Amino acid sequence: MYKLELFPFGFHRLSPNKIVAISESGDYIFLTQEELYLLVHQPSKLNNELLADLKSKYFLGEINQPGLTRLLASRIAEKKETILSGPSLHIIVTTLQCTHSCRYCQVSRSLDDKGFSMPIELLDKVCETIFESPSQTLAVEFQGGDPLLRFDLLKHAIERINIINKIEKRNVRFIVASTLHQLNDEMCAFFKNNNVILSTSLDGPKGIHNSNRIHYGNDSYEFTVKGLDMARRKIGYDSVSALMTTTRQSLQSPEDVVDEYVTQGFNEIFLRPLSLYGFALRNPTKISYSVKEFTDFYRRAFDRILFWNNKGIQIREVTASIILNKILSTFDAGYVDLQNPSGFGLAVLVYNYDGYIYPSDEARMLTETGDNSLRLGKIGDSLNSILSSNLAKRIIKSSLAKFIPGCMDCAFNKYCGPDPINAFSQFGFMEAPAFWTKHCIINTWMFEFFFALLEKNEPEFIALANAWAKPNHLH
Ligand code: SF4
Repeated sequence: MYKLELFPFGFHRLSPNKIVAISESGDYIFLTQEELYLLVHQPSKLNNELLADLKSKYFLGEINQPGLTRLLASRIAEKKETILSGPSLHIIVTTLQCTHSCRYCQVSRSLDDKGFSMPIELLDKVCETIFESPSQTLAVEFQGGDPLLRFDLLKHAIERINIINKIEKRNVRFIVASTLHQLNDEMCAFFKNNNVILSTSLDGPKGIHNSNRIHYGNDSYEFTVKGLDMARRKIGYDSVSALMTTTRQSLQSPEDVVDEYVTQGFNEIFLRPLSLYGFALRNPTKISYSVKEFTDFYRRAFDRILFWNNKGIQIREVTASIILNKILSTFDAGYVDLQNPSGFGLAVLVYNYDGYIYPSDEARMLTETGDNSLRLGKIGDSLNSILSSNLAKRIIKSSLAKFIPGCMDCAFNKYCGPDPINAFSQFGFMEAPAFWTKHCIINTWMFEFFFALLEKNEPEFIALANAWAKPNHLH
C-alpha cells in the first residue's frame, strides 16, 4: 500500500461547513469540515474522486515522487514569472499641469509650468533607463497632471523610445492617462501612428462625474465625453479605456455608474475604491467612506454588471478579472498591487517630474505632502543601483507574506501579499500587520466574495469567470 504525503496548504472558512483550501500551486478546492479533517489526519479515507482531485491540485502526493515536487516548483515559478522578469511598467510623470482640481486628487496640480514639468534632459535619461530593464515587454505610461498639456514632452519621449527600440527590439506599449479635454487632430494622428492607448477617468453619469472632477465651467463630463468620441473616431474605437473612482457621491448610485459605462459603449469598468494618499487627505470627510460602504457599493454594481451580461451586453469588471485570474489561471497577469513579493519597484517604476524615481504612484504622491522617504533614487541613476538600494530591499522584504503578521498564515497569500506602501502611508512603517491595512481588508472581502460565487457553481457565472480570468484581458 502506497503512503500519502501532505503538502503545505492554507484554508479559509466561507461558512460554518464550507471551507476553501488553497495549495502552494494556487489551486483551490471546496471542502466540508469533515473532509478537511480527513485530509489532514487520514487522507486515505477520503473517497477516490476527491483524493484524485486533491492529488492533481498538489494538496498531497505519494511519498518519494520527486517528479511531482519538481512539477509543483515549476507551477509556482510560472506564477512569479511576470513579477521577477524586471520592471515592465514605467510610469513617467511629465508634468503636474492640469486644468482640474478633483476632490480626490492625490497630487498638488498647477496651471503654471514653472518647476512642474520634467526638463528634456531628464526625460532623455528616463528613456535610456527604461531599456536597462531586462524585461522583453515594456509598458510606458504617461501620467500627470494631464500629460496632454505638455504634448511636446510626450511626443519627444515616444519618439526617443522608438529610436532606441530600433536596436533593442522590445515589445513596447504606450499608454497616456488624460482627461482628454485637450485632445486635438495632431495628437490623434500621432497616437494612431504610434499605437498609443488612452486611459481616461469617467466617474459615472454627469452629476457624479462633475461633482468629483472639478473643472472651472462645471463641464468636465462634457469635455471628456467629447474627447472620447474624437479618440474613437480618429484613433480607433478601442483606443480609449476608462476608470472610475468611487467617492461618497457614488455610493448611492452603483447602477447609474455601471449604466453610464454601458451607454458610453465601454466593454470594461474598473470599480476602484478611493485611495486617501497625498493631497486627497485634505478632504477625507467629504469624499471618503468605510470599507463596508465600498463593498456594499461594489456588490450592487457587480450585480448590475451581471444583469447587463445576461442581457447580452458584454461588460467586464477589472477588479473581478484580476482576482479571478489569480484564482483560475495558471498564468499570473502580473497586476502589481497583488504580488508577493511586491511589484512596487520590482515590476513598476515611477519617474517623476521632480527628478526622482519612486516605487509606485502612491509613493510619489506622499512626496507632494513633504514626505520624501520613498524615493528610490534620482533620474539618471542606473537601474541596478535603484533596484539594489536599501529602500528597494526593504520594500521587497516587507512585502514577503512569510514575514508579515496576518499574511504569513492567510490562505489567500498564494494570490496576494502585503502592500508595504499602503502600510507606510497609513501607519508610517512598512511592516505593519497586514490586517490593519485597507489593502488587506478590501482584498480579503474580494476573495471571499468571488470564492462564494464560484462555490455556487452556476454555469453562467463559471463561464463568465473563466473568460474574465484570461491574462490577455489584463495589463
Ligand atoms: S494582504 Fe491580507 S488578504 Fe492579502 S495575503 Fe496578506 S493577509 Fe491575506
